Amino acid sequence: MVNLELSEEQAAVRQLARAFVEREIAPHVVEWDRGEEVDRGIVKKLGEVGFLGLTVAEEYGGSGGDHLAYCLVTEELGRGDSSVRGIVSVSLGLVAKTIAAWGDEEQKRRWLPGLTAGEYVGCFGLTEPGTGSDAGNLTTRAVRDGDRYVIDGTKMFITNGTWADVVLLFARTTDAPGHNGVSAFLVPTDTPGLTRRTIHGKLGLRGQATAELVFEDVRVPASALLGAEGKGFSVAMSALAKGRMSVAAGCVGIAQAALDAAVRYAGEREQFGKPIAQHQLVQELISDIAVDVDAARLLTWRVADLIDRGQPFAVESSKAKLFASEAAVRAANNALQVFGGYGYIDEYPAGKLLRDARVMTLYEGTSQIQKLLIGRALTGVSAF
Ligand code: FAD
Repeated sequence: MVNLELSEEQAAVRQLARAFVEREIAPHVVEWDRGEEVDRGIVKKLGEVGFLGLTVAEEYGGSGGDHLAYCLVTEELGRGDSSVRGIVSVSLGLVAKTIAAWGDEEQKRRWLPGLTAGEYVGCFGLTEPGTGSDAGNLTTRAVRDGDRYVIDGTKMFITNGTWADVVLLFARTTDAPGHNGVSAFLVPTDTPGLTRRTIHGKLGLRGQATAELVFEDVRVPASALLGAEGKGFSVAMSALAKGRMSVAAGCVGIAQAALDAAVRYAGEREQFGKPIAQHQLVQELISDIAVDVDAARLLTWRVADLIDRGQPFAVESSKAKLFASEAAVRAANNALQVFGGYGYIDEYPAGKLLRDARVMTLYEGTSQIQKLLIGRALTGVSAF
């Protein structure tokens, strides 16, 4: 059975997200983008409305809901501002949901109520200056010293990095080769020895606090270990498998925003004595965007459906992320073309949509890495 009708609850949550974006985000989008900083107060507001607790159990402060509801909210946030969408995708999607899945009772009670309420922000520390796609070969070290671990290393391009209260950190705990020696830790960002530097000059997602994190002799108790020692790469990959669905949903939002803007503008702008919507080649641009929106949305919803039914979803998540991110870039670029020269200035939305979309084909695994994951699943042969 394929049922694409939203339940009453899902439709209501989407409406709530739409209204939230109109009220709290849309009026500030250009200002935040130009100023390279989203107002940090938005995190608390996201927590109050329940968007930072979706799919997390109520006993830990979560607001429940299924993964389709999570996708619907993520899509609406992405439609409004990808910088805000990314804050949620990381703090909830990569950090809180991973603590909920892998944490012991004490870790859940310590971090989840604050993260879901928007009192804390989480960040995900996997990438390093020398290891991006090949994350399993990371070099940050966590050496056991009595009842503590001592951490040294550098993490790069960390979303929410300078805002975060806790880092879900991946570090090498043994000399075992590749990903076998990696463990996951929950490191409070006020731990001595941890310094953070904001990365400026990003093409898009300018409102987001992306940072480099440097760990020098950072000491955490053994209880900071998330999951068993040596299981860190499994923790990271399970987080990213769900995270890719969230990125895909954000891309659907970008593509939908591109479609809305292009249709509106094509009806208003006149050239050759008629609205440009009446020119066939402009209709081609718009219909190409529309097909990308629908295809990306259906692939993304399928992932949510698989997760909610307890079925394997990682490969489908890679497919959704691959397609939706490339589709969002195409859609934003087509919308920019509909706007002509006005698409090139930030008083109109297309340029920002394109800048924000571009990174989606890079992070949480580049498009090439998604293809290798899909190819490996289909052929049974690893081409990494
Ligand atoms: P590289 O791995 O060096 O890749 C360079 C090129 O080589 C790419 O085109 C890649 O596809 C290609 N390539 C590499 N290996 C192969 C192969 N085997 N086959 C074919 N092609 C290959 N990371 C985090 O841990 N946490 C975050 O919160 C986070 N947020 C980010 C936010 C932003 C704005 C950005 C830009 C990045 C963020 N990242 C984050 C890092 C991101 O996940 C990495 O940039 C990404 O994984 C790619 O790694 P890299 O940049 O080192 O590129």
